[in-house]
Amino acid sequence: RRAKTGQEMDPLFERQSNGNSRIMVFVRLRPMMKKEKEAGSRSCVRIVNRRDVYLTEFASEHDYLRLKRVRGRHFTFDASFPESATQQEVYSTTTSELVEAVLQGRNGSVFCYGATGAGKTYTMLGTVENPGVMVLAIKDLFTKVRQRSCDGNHVVHLSYLEGIVAAGLSQYRAYSTDEVMALLLQGNKNRTTEPTRMNETSSRSHAILQVVVEYRTRDAAMNIVNRVGKLSLIDLAGSERALATDQRTLRSIEGANINRSLLALSSCINALVEGKKHIPYRNSKLTQLLKDSLGGACNTVMIANISPSNLSFGETQNTLHWADRAKEIRNKAYETTEELVQDGVTDAEQAKLLLEVQKEN
Ligand code: ADP
Ligand code: MG
Repeated sequence: RRAKTGQEMDPLFERQSNGNSRIMVFVRLRPMMKKEKEAGSRSCVRIVNRRDVYLTEFASEHDYLRLKRVRGRHFTFDASFPESATQQEVYSTTTSELVEAVLQGRNGSVFCYGATGAGKTYTMLGTVENPGVMVLAIKDLFTKVRQRSCDGNHVVHLSYLEGIVAAGLSQYRAYSTDEVMALLLQGNKNRTTEPTRMNETSSRSHAILQVVVEYRTRDAAMNIVNRVGKLSLIDLAGSERALATDQRTLRSIEGANINRSLLALSSCINALVEGKKHIPYRNSKLTQLLKDSLGGACNTVMIANISPSNLSFGETQNTLHWADRAKEIRNKAYETTEELVQDGVTDAEQAKLLLEVQKEN
């Protein structure tokens, strides 16, 4: 057994070193929308202590007035964000640790899962006034890189930053924070100015931002070593398209309407949770891309987005079900940086995959 390095003693490593690390799972409840209020919806979700989610369904108006819970469930996650949670709070709790780890050569992935309209894009991209996780992560990353580059022992350089694929956009390479922000905001603008069309697109496709940080450092023997850390931020397609995993509805949904990549994602989650030897990553481009985020050597965060409305009860229940299951996934513990690289796909494969993921839905 090799000696402990400084890196192994840091708190983040601690979290992962006793066996395999598990996926961190968070839930974010968005505020009730005007449209939902007007449709007479009631809230069926309650978040207590920033951890516990109570989902209840009222069978009728009569039951509601008597606060009679007909069907309900209680879930616990690493943290659950109520309607009042700010973008900064969500970023700090879910992703800032991963950004720090990426700068130390460990891969990290954050993905938002949930039905269309549940708040995935708001969480990932946000608005100009309230930027989301993607924007806050890039800002934080550049700030930290700049700080470290001034550090004499620790020469950090960002050699490339690539792979922005938003719905409808092709792949870009960018070299500065401003460039990345401009692209992200442009994508956001497209989505908001054409709500119907873009919503249709964003409910079918995944938006993926990948940032690769390469840096040079010295090992204990003062030899120069290059390290690479990759951060993937993913706004998944609307999960209602994967509802066909439910046996009862399997026959009623037409093949073309099923998001095959999300279906493949749930198969992988199931196989991982059940401890199967074979994980069917090959079934879709999305799962190939996420291979090192699901069961691999990677810090993985899932943010499950939900609406408070009882009109979305079924979708919310489905989302919480998968989030609850994802808690069981164990990612491989870290041994060496080499292993990290071998475990995932190569950069060339990665770039190709990113483009193909968009086409496969
Ligand atoms: P999705 O990407 O899951 O389809 P969106 O992120 O587009 O859903 O959210 C649907 C609507 O709700 C948008 O108008 C968005 O601005 C709003 N919204 C979502 N989450 C929040 C939140 N936490 N606070 C305020 N508004 C939100
Ligand atoms: Mg969206």
